[in-house]
Amino acid sequence: MNVYWTSGRLLLREVVFEAEMVNTAPLRVGVGRTAPLKAPVDLAVIRIRRNGNAEEPYVPGSSLKGVFRTNAELLLRFKRPRVAPCSGLSKNTCMNVKTIGDKKLMDAVQDLQQEGKSEDAMKLFFENACLLCKVFGAPSYAGRVVFQDAYVKGPFRLGFRTGIAIDRRTGAVFERQLYQVEYVEPGARFGLVVSARNLPNYAIGLLARVLFMLHQGEIRIGGFKTRGFGTVRLESPILRVKNYAGGQDLEPLEDVDAPVRLGDIFSVEDGQHVARGDRAWEALRRFAEVWDAVKLS
Ligand SMILES: [Zn+2]
Repeated sequence: MNVYWTSGRLLLREVVFEAEMVNTAPLRVGVGRTAPLKAPVDLAVIRIRRNGNAEEPYVPGSSLKGVFRTNAELLLRFKRPRVAPCSGLSKNTCMNVKTIGDKKLMDAVQDLQQEGKSEDAMKLFFENACLLCKVFGAPSYAGRVVFQDAYVKGPFRLGFRTGIAIDRRTGAVFERQLYQVEYVEPGARFGLVVSARNLPNYAIGLLARVLFMLHQGEIRIGGFKTRGFGTVRLESPILRVKNYAGGQDLEPLEDVDAPVRLGDIFSVEDGQHVARGDRAWEALRRFAEVWDAVKLS
């Protein structure tokens, strides 16, 4: 039996992952994404002012979410699911690109909602949207995973590198048109917090796989990736699980899902199951194994 876990009315489980994200290479999350054609221009890193402190660099949750969705899409495509993943770009989510009869999925869902059939609307979305839209969200549906802005903890240093402005149409280098690229020097620590609500174990496992790839430097965040920027490692991981269904294990939410046993590695603190350090990695490995084994119909 499948639980329609995308329903906002359900409260089944909450899984929160926290870690200190330390950049092992220069890290550049910029304000804009386009390289300048007219130089000289200084490309500053994105900053925020908090708690009356001076401006600090940070990694917006939206950037992290983009990296996770892109890499989750690559992993999902290998599974060849019945509902193929959409690109997830603003006008290309399942809500826009999938059709029910002659209607876009979004219109079909909204029509049912306006008729007061919100349960049917939710089921229509559940059956027809790809896993990524269900996990990360789509227009008029918030998604079940939240990436908080990752603020810097402790000292950090900013560096500059000189870039050369290149005409992206012709590839020609503009003479003497240099610009300054700002970045965060390796060794800064950012507080990473990812929370997932009501996800089945295989979907938690999909996120866990991306976390492992990030930790192992297989994927990068921010800009200038081709110049070696953007690798991080995750230190002091903590995994917190609230299982509203009760019990020490997370049961399957769908026919294709599998249980994850947690009792032997989690301790109970304030009614939550908590695993720290190597135990947190071990717990994530168990979820990731469910993802590896799942056969999506
Ligand atoms: Zn989709």
